[in-house]
Amino acid sequence: MTTLTFDSLNPATGAIVGSHPKHTADAVHEAVGRAEQAAAWWAALAPAERRTRLLDYKAVLTQHLRELAGLVQEETGKPAGDAALEIVLAVNHLDWAARNAAKVLGRRRVSTGMIGVNLAATLEYLPLGVVAVIGPWNYPVFTPMGSIAYALAAGNAIVFKPSELTPGVGVRLAELFKESVPEQPVFQTVTGLGETGAALAADPRVRKVAFTGSTATAKRVMAACAENLTPLVAECGGKDAFIVDADADLQAAADACLWGAMSNAGQTCAGVERVYVVDSVYETFMRELSERVTKVKAGEDYGPITMPGQVDIIKRHIDDATKSGRVVTGGPDSVRGAYVDPVIVEDVPEDSPSVREETFGPTITVRRTRDAQEALELANASAYGLGGTIFARDRRRATELARMMRTGMTAINSVISFAGVPALPFGGVGDSGFGRIHGADGLREFARPKAISRQR
Ligand code: NAD
Repeated sequence: MTTLTFDSLNPATGAIVGSHPKHTADAVHEAVGRAEQAAAWWAALAPAERRTRLLDYKAVLTQHLRELAGLVQEETGKPAGDAALEIVLAVNHLDWAARNAAKVLGRRRVSTGMIGVNLAATLEYLPLGVVAVIGPWNYPVFTPMGSIAYALAAGNAIVFKPSELTPGVGVRLAELFKESVPEQPVFQTVTGLGETGAALAADPRVRKVAFTGSTATAKRVMAACAENLTPLVAECGGKDAFIVDADADLQAAADACLWGAMSNAGQTCAGVERVYVVDSVYETFMRELSERVTKVKAGEDYGPITMPGQVDIIKRHIDDATKSGRVVTGGPDSVRGAYVDPVIVEDVPEDSPSVREETFGPTITVRRTRDAQEALELANASAYGLGGTIFARDRRRATELARMMRTGMTAINSVISFAGVPALPFGGVGDSGFGRIHGADGLREFARPKAISRQR
């Protein structure tokens, strides 16, 4: 019997990077069966042993950093430095998850809160079993590792379905895991298109699905999960807002805005796409931003658009924004094949597709607002709610605005990549999804609380 295959391509050159099997539903179910056995073995290891193995895996990934970064570069087209940074950040997550799992999940005594009943009680967080991880292509190591590391550290086995655009590096992650854990297939990969992911999400032996990708696909995955009441953590798209208040450091704000919008060619779920600037500093901020953006070039500062179909969405949004708003930089000519130079447009109506929908490209819309309150209201009017940024010097006011921003995460005076911070939970609200990865919440996402009470 011949197995159908598909090729992954270098988006910068069109060259074939690798050929991979299209795993059928039967092949996926076999992998889940193997994972079930491996899960029992992995869960039975002492937490200290799992920690040792995961730290060993960290060392293996670090030794293979160049090779992995090379694969990421070939499959996504991103510059070498960005590809290497992605591996470093992924390894950082693995380290945090391995070192903190026992502390976060281990058994502890709890005070029961019962009055007049003499109960003793303990609480611990036990492994779920098989966790399915379905990943995107934009950060093909870093993003899935944000689920894989935490789920492994919590004592689960993984079946990982990487994006069809970046299967090679996904397969390699699981191969390298065998160097640290050769006994059982605790971490396997299945490759293929959407059907392969669908078969995985539909398998009733999967105890949790960790999905990262578009909101539209998340809805299909959720429908499949509903059949078996399989719990899901859904990390979806975003349309992050960037607010500049009257007392902001405008130079720092312009630097951060540009980086947040243009890095990885804007192909970042928590990338800056909408900018709201308070009236009194609008001109100065725009001057700072315009000066900086002239120095940014596609193909030099960032790579191509990885997914061919995404270029059409970016083009549609640029056309929409430039027709209804005022161009600051770029325009329809900014799209050069797979490369897109920066585009900044002012005063695009808030109900336009380019302001409402995720663009996933190096383009931003900018709007002048009366004050920070109005900026916040516009920021919160989005269906998405992943991350957001506030630039303001008054710490108390900035924190108040951050708390009122309808997102999972808000940064003040920087555009940290939220996803790079291991100890903080990552995730959004609304169309950006639900559930949390990373940090203690991320470890608990892949475990079941087990309560035991005893009459004294
Ligand atoms: P996508 O939804 O097209 O695909 C994601 C994965 O789902 C792929 O592996 C794909 O093969 C698989 N898939 C497709 N159909 C499926 C189905 N019916 N059942 C199960 N799996 C299926 O997303 P993409 O284009 O790979 O990634 C880009 C999107 O991901 C953007 O919207 C971006 O914002 C989002 N993203 C979110 C985060 C986050 O953490 N919130 C991180 C990175 C990317």
